[in-house]
Amino acid sequence: MAASDSPVGRVHLVGAGPGDPGLLTARALELIARADTILYDRLIGAAALDCARPDAELLFVGKVSHGGMGSLPNDSVPQERTQQLMIERALTGREVVRLKGGDPFVFGRGGEEALALREAGIEFTIVPGITAGVAALAFAGIPVTHRGLATGVALLTGHEDPDKQESELDFDALARFPGTLVFYMGVRALGRIAPALIAAGRPGSEPAALVERGTLPGQRTVTGTLASIAEIAVREQIAAPAITVVGPVAGLAEQIAWLPELPLAGLSVAVTRARARSSELARRLEALGASVVQAPSIRTVPLPADPIDPTPFDLVCLTSPVGVELLFERLDDGRHPRGDARSLAGVRVAAIGPGTARALAEHGVLADVVPERFVAESLVEALAELQVGRALIARASEARDLLPDALRERGAEVDVVALYETVAEPLSGPAREQAREADYVTFTSSSTVRFFLQALRERDGETSADGGNTDADLLSPHTRVVSIGPVTSASLREHGIEPHVEAERHDVDGLVQALLADVRRDD
Ligand code: SAH
Repeated sequence: MAASDSPVGRVHLVGAGPGDPGLLTARALELIARADTILYDRLIGAAALDCARPDAELLFVGKVSHGGMGSLPNDSVPQERTQQLMIERALTGREVVRLKGGDPFVFGRGGEEALALREAGIEFTIVPGITAGVAALAFAGIPVTHRGLATGVALLTGHEDPDKQESELDFDALARFPGTLVFYMGVRALGRIAPALIAAGRPGSEPAALVERGTLPGQRTVTGTLASIAEIAVREQIAAPAITVVGPVAGLAEQIAWLPELPLAGLSVAVTRARARSSELARRLEALGASVVQAPSIRTVPLPADPIDPTPFDLVCLTSPVGVELLFERLDDGRHPRGDARSLAGVRVAAIGPGTARALAEHGVLADVVPERFVAESLVEALAELQVGRALIARASEARDLLPDALRERGAEVDVVALYETVAEPLSGPAREQAREADYVTFTSSSTVRFFLQALRERDGETSADGGNTDADLLSPHTRVVSIGPVTSASLREHGIEPHVEAERHDVDGLVQALLADVRRDD
């Protein structure tokens, strides 16, 4: 989709939430997926930008953090530049998303940007996001209000400029405020603000907590009192981004904390399968509390192929969901419209596993054969009952020949069509680093093994390519290797890596179960 219909584009001021991609709103995702231009800040996670169009213009407009004192004397310069960029892009007819952490109107300067757009006569919409002050606390088990403990909540920010002597906060009013105080600010400011609150009369014994990286991998909570929290933060080396909460509700953290209760809490799990296929696995792992490292190492590329007429066959075998999609694109029996499921009316259809069967079902075809174990060997067994004259196997170019060979041995005439090939997907530096350090790395096919290890090797450059390092050395010694099934395990062993875990059921569900069993075994 190019620019919007009107000659002048629109701007959407969109809140991206606190960092966990699952906390993006449905509307935020829809607008990100449609945008021509996205201007984003420092705290926006890579996952939020994942669904942007490949040809979308992504502009980083985050403010560089104040390194030394006064290194950025005036914030308004980048802010003005951001507003100018936003307006310029909209004037050329582009659909612009201005993506901000949390909620755009909570310490996000969204109001200023909206006013600038109004002044420039540019249409805009506002998409609220979940603000960090509420989300980070929820993830730490701290309700911002609680009957009997806090009847109100104040969202505050303390400026971090140590050159400024006077504070914008009214400490006398805050000392009297009958509710929870939530501060959006760094640890350094806390060292000034906590004593000022106590001096103004807020009791030093009041519970307080700090949540670092709320909703993000590696989230940490420290608790103490108003008098002790600043010192605790320094001792524990709490770093940005962090939220501070002062009030009796902070005392509930220990009882309500739920994140550490999840079976995979605190564990990082790398997912190496193709981006388009990784979401279900990632979602399942995240729901169990894991921090998922997206490290898609493969991508499927359709191969040029003639139209496929299934009529002469009495069996069509499909070995992956991608294969199903591509088969339907090519399906043409000369009688029905292209891609019409009726072309398969007289043909039996076999799927290697439930994912493939589901993809078929989405096209209105219920597979006649789905084996119990999802490897080619099982499909061969499952087909043993069938009388097959002529079979079509639609699959990846690099697939094993087990299935066609077995069918031929039984006297069938077999056509193999390579619909796509699997190629390496380059990994970003951070994805590679996080993946090699992960507690678990998951492999869902032989090609994920091959291309993931290749991606790790590229980082190490020439030395490890033939310099004596084995592939096993590419992974951290603490990393546990999870394989979806025997074929993937065999590929790992070929690379000198012994999988620690092999799934009994060779699908996403089986993989997750096997990983969970391994975690429990360690407890
Ligand atoms: N508009 C944002 C706030 C921007 S101000 C919102 O509504 O959430 C930036 C401050 O927010 C940071 O200095 C930090 O105090 C806080 N913050 C943002 N993301 C956070 C996170 N994931 N965990 C803890 N604090 C966070």
